[in-house]
Formats: sequence, structure tokens, C-alpha cells
Amino acid sequence: MRDVIIIGAGAVGCTIARELSFYQPDVLVLEKECDVAAGTTGRNSAVVHAGFNNRPGSLMARLCVEGSRGMEALCRELDVPYRKTGKTLVAFDEEDREILRKLKAQGDANGCRGLKLIGKEELEELVPGVGGIGGFYSPETAILDPFKYCIAMAENAAENGVTFRFGEEVTGIRREEGGFTVTTPKGSYTGRILINSAGLAADRVSAMAGVDGYHIYPCRGEYFILDEVAQDLLPMPVYPALKAGIGGLGVHVTPTIHGNIIIGPSAEYIEEPDDYATTPAVMDKLWREAQALLPQLKRRHIIGAYSGIRAKLAPENEGGYRDFVIKEEEACPGLINLVGIESPGLTASRPIALMVREMVGKHLPLTPKEGAVRTHRFPPVFAKLERAEQERLIREDPEYGEIVCRCRRVTKAEIRWAIENPLGARSLSAVKYRAWATTGRCNGGYCLNRIVEMLVREYGMRPEEVTLRGPGSEMFSGEVK
Ligand SMILES: Cc1cc2nc3c(=O)[nH]c(=O)nc-3n(C[C@H](O)[C@H](O)[C@H](O)COP(=O)(O)OP(=O)(O)OC[C@H]3O[C@@H](n4cnc5c(N)ncnc54)[C@H](O)[C@@H]3O)c2cc1C
Repeated sequence: MRDVIIIGAGAVGCTIARELSFYQPDVLVLEKECDVAAGTTGRNSAVVHAGFNNRPGSLMARLCVEGSRGMEALCRELDVPYRKTGKTLVAFDEEDREILRKLKAQGDANGCRGLKLIGKEELEELVPGVGGIGGFYSPETAILDPFKYCIAMAENAAENGVTFRFGEEVTGIRREEGGFTVTTPKGSYTGRILINSAGLAADRVSAMAGVDGYHIYPCRGEYFILDEVAQDLLPMPVYPALKAGIGGLGVHVTPTIHGNIIIGPSAEYIEEPDDYATTPAVMDKLWREAQALLPQLKRRHIIGAYSGIRAKLAPENEGGYRDFVIKEEEACPGLINLVGIESPGLTASRPIALMVREMVGKHLPLTPKEGAVRTHRFPPVFAKLERAEQERLIREDPEYGEIVCRCRRVTKAEIRWAIENPLGARSLSAVKYRAWATTGRCNGGYCLNRIVEMLVREYGMRPEEVTLRGPGSEMFSGEVK
């Protein structure tokens, strides 16, 4: 019997796995998809929120502020790309100004640092060309790479002995003396403590363990992805004044850590928790709202779209946010539920994990594990290196001299590292999110075939086995000629 079974390998599950990996308990992570970060963790705004959006006294507010404060050091420890950009919110009229005044008071109460209301001139200095009559500035807000965050957490945990099993959707849970038996289509596993960090499915997983009463209302947010124009157009995230009652933070424009700009997200309650569509009506609205914030955006900058789904506990007629649920269920000792972990769940993932660690510590002795490591390193990103360093790498490994993804200048050596990742994820998305290949303006038109060729010729896969994101997303069905 395992000591701990974690269901779900998003930012929350992986961060919990890492925190537990520093101690003796034996931990297993079960994930239904073929890699980490395949749920909401890979489909958000990637902003490290400062913590002013949440109700004072709520778990969301406290854990967000704590997460934001620790994130820079954590990302350094794990080698995750992170940049403190600051963030502005824009007022278009007096009503907006009043909203921003209240938001500042809320942020001050939550312990956010350096918040200030600013006039049109200062706003224009921070973000040249931005619309509006004035605004609000948060210097502590940051951006990061949510994929590498989750990958680094999982790889660090795995290095310390945590087992990750992918393609294992938990379909049944039986409570029994001293623990739980968890069933997936591939087998069954027993564990003393069960941690439910299944994101959009956390209500259903809880019900499987016999704890009914949660209902997650999926609320979709659609985004545009723009080319790498952030350096010229957008130094920091720009948000509208937050209107009460909507399910998100309003449509914003945000630079990504890779230099793109994203526009979104919308907020639309939907029936199916896995309906990741992007829709013409919503996309038109996104564009109009983004243009009001940043008129210099051009349609020709658009290179893609995606959507993410919020795991909301607040139904549509209630709107807004309900607090995170993070607790061991009294009715089911040993079951630790994490339900309604919507934004700012990425920012708050480490403090959430520390809370869960305390809960686990009430059942199991948390004796430090000898030899456990806290640091993690990714290989260098070739395109970001100085010329001399690039030349040195090519001398050491000629595959650094071979560009596979032209848009992002990703080398064959980096693709190889991504294919050979320690978690054993072998889909095209696994390569994409590790090496960042296929993410440029050509959307993989040039490099996708070359990556497939590597998988087939050098790793012995049959073309029919190559998937975008695991079974059901096969790329090829047979030969044409
Ligand atoms: C549009 C949008 C924008 C956001 N922007 C931000 C932001 O800027 N900053 C921020 O801090 N937060 C943001 N968030 C919130 C943040 O993304 C989430 O809080 C966070 O990613 C939640 O992580 P998680 O691990 O709980 O869930 P997930 O990442 O969804 O992970 C849950 C995992 O469980 C797996 N799973 C589900 N069911 C089962 C099962 N039965 N068996 C096995 N595995 C299962 C899923 O496949 C998934 O991988 C945003 C969210 C959305 C939707």
C-alpha cells in the first residue's frame, strides 16, 4: 500500500507531490492525460497575481499573497522562467475609478505591496499607447511559464522518488480499513491518504469516495495568441477595472514569458467540462475589448487561439467567486479534497501544497528524506544564449547546430532532450511544451514533420503511434503513397 495517492497532475497536484517528496512517505500520482499540465494549468493567463482581487479573509486572498511573495525564489530554485512585470488596470470613466479605489483598499487589506492609483500620464508612461483616463498599478505582479512550472515540480518530485502514472483516469474509489483502493482502466492502487486535486473533475472524484455535495460549474475563457510583439507593444499585463459579479477578471492583454501577447479570457458558463472550443462571437468581443485597452494591436498579429475552463463553485446566477475548498473530509478521514481551485490557483499552488502537507502530517510521520533535492535545472534555451555560448554548445554537441523549429530557433539537441524527458511523456505536445517548438507563427508547419521524423526514425515509433496529446489524438492513419 502507498502512503499517499494524488489524483491529478496539474500545478496543484504536482506541487503537492514535490512538497511531500522531501519526506519519507511513498507517493503515487495518477493522471488521466498523457502528461502533466494537460488541464487548466496549461490553459490560463500565466500571471502571478499579487492578491488584490480576492475578498479579505478568504483562503484565496491569503494563499495568493503568500504564493506571489514566494514565487520568484521558487522559480529560481526550479529554473522556471519568471519575470516581475508589474500590472496596470485601466479606468475608462468615473465608475471605473471608484472600482479601482475599492480594489486598492482591498489589496492593502490583503497585504499587497506598493499598490497605487495613477493618473493618465503615469499610465501612459508605464504602458505607452494604452487607452483610458487613469488607472491602478501593482508592481508585484509577474508572469511565468506555467508548463515549465508544472514540469519542473513533477521532475523534481520524480527525482525524489514520487511515481507518476499517466493515462490513468480514476474511475472508482473504495474506502476500506486503513485507506482507499483506487481503480483506473489500467489497474487498481491502494493508498492510506487520498489527495483529490482533479481540477474540473474534483467534484466527481470526491463523489466517488462517497463525499457528495460539491458541484463544479465549468466556465470557459477564450484567448487569442498574438505573435512575439510584446517587447514592442506591451511591457506588462493590462486589465480593465474589475466589474463585480463576472466570473473572471475581465478581458486583458498580457505579455507571455516567451514574448507573445495573449488577449482574453472571456467568461462563459458551459455544460461540458472539456469543451475547449473557441467561438467566433466571443473572439470578436475579445478583439473589440482588447482594442479599447491597447489600440495599437493589429489583426495581423494574431497567430492562434485557445481556451481554458475555470472550475467554479459559484453557479452562473450567483456569479463572482466562492473560496477554495482545501480540507480533509470529516465524513471520510484520509480524503483531502481540493475543490474549486480556480484563479489564482497557479499563483497559490505552493501555499496550497504546504497546507496539504500539514494535513498529511497529521496521519503520517513526515521524516525528512535523506538525499532529497530541492533544485531542478532545464537545459539551456539555445535561442536566448550569447553567440559565444551557442558556439561552445555546438562544439560540444553538433545537434545544437541544427535548427528544427525555425520560428523559435529550437535546435535538434533541445528536441531530443524534450523527447527523452524523465517523466516519459512522448506526445507532440510533450515536446512542444518542453522545447517550445511548433509555437511560432507557422504553428508547426515547418518543424512538426521533422519532430515526427525523429520520433519514427530515431525512437522507433510507428507513425500511427504518434499523437498530439495521447490516445485519441493520433496524427496519422496510414500511408498516402
Ligand atoms: C481562463 C483561466 C485563466 C487563469 N489565469 C490564471 C492566472 O493568470 N494566474 C493564476 O494564478 N491562476 C489562473 N488560473 C487558475 C489556474 O490555472 C488554476 O487554478 C490551476 O491551474 C489549477 O490547477 P489544478 O492542478 O488544480 O488543476 P488542473 O491543472 O486542471 O489539473 C487537474 C488534473 O487532474 C486530472 N484529472 C481530472 N480527473 C481525473 C481523474 N478522474 N483521474 C486522474 N486524473 C484526473 C486532469 O487531467 C488534470 O491534469 C486561470 C484559470 C483559467 C481557466
